[in-house]
Amino acid sequence: MALTKCRECGDKVSTGAIKCPHCGVKNPALSTHLTNIIAALGVIVICIFLFVYISKGCDALFESSAPKAAPKEIKFGLSESERRQIWHEMIVAEDRATQEGEAMYPVTVQNANRELLEKQTEEIMVRVEKCRDELARKYGLTRQQLTRIVAEATMNDWPMPPLPD
Ligand SMILES: [Zn+2]
Repeated sequence: MALTKCRECGDKVSTGAIKCPHCGVKNPALSTHLTNIIAALGVIVICIFLFVYISKGCDALFESSAPKAAPKEIKFGLSESERRQIWHEMIVAEDRATQEGEAMYPVTVQNANRELLEKQTEEIMVRVEKCRDELARKYGLTRQQLTRIVAEATMNDWPMPPLPD
């Protein structure tokens, strides 16, 4: 059987000893055994800490050496104020498209029917689509990018432009 130190007197005892032959303490190897486990755990914990610390340090090193990402406010090559401008233009153009569609197919309480409402809606939709295509072309954006600007406006609650009556 292996030898270890007695937890009480420090003399050599068998790991399986029930009683220390030197000082007579019960289970002399037990606590040394536990101490060893605790010490081993401590070493593991320290290793984990060191590992995390070092890997974090490495990350910081890589981050600082990596090229800086474009500032957050630049999207699709446009600053936030430019995107706000585009969004304003779109709101105004769509408002105009709606008014034009309503003027082409005026719906009143007297003449209101489903067919007329559908025609008016379709007319507005076609005009709105045209507005968006033109705006996308004007600023060299895809329709998807334009949609993302609209989403950004909604998300960030950008103020609506003043609309003509
Ligand atoms: Zn002892």
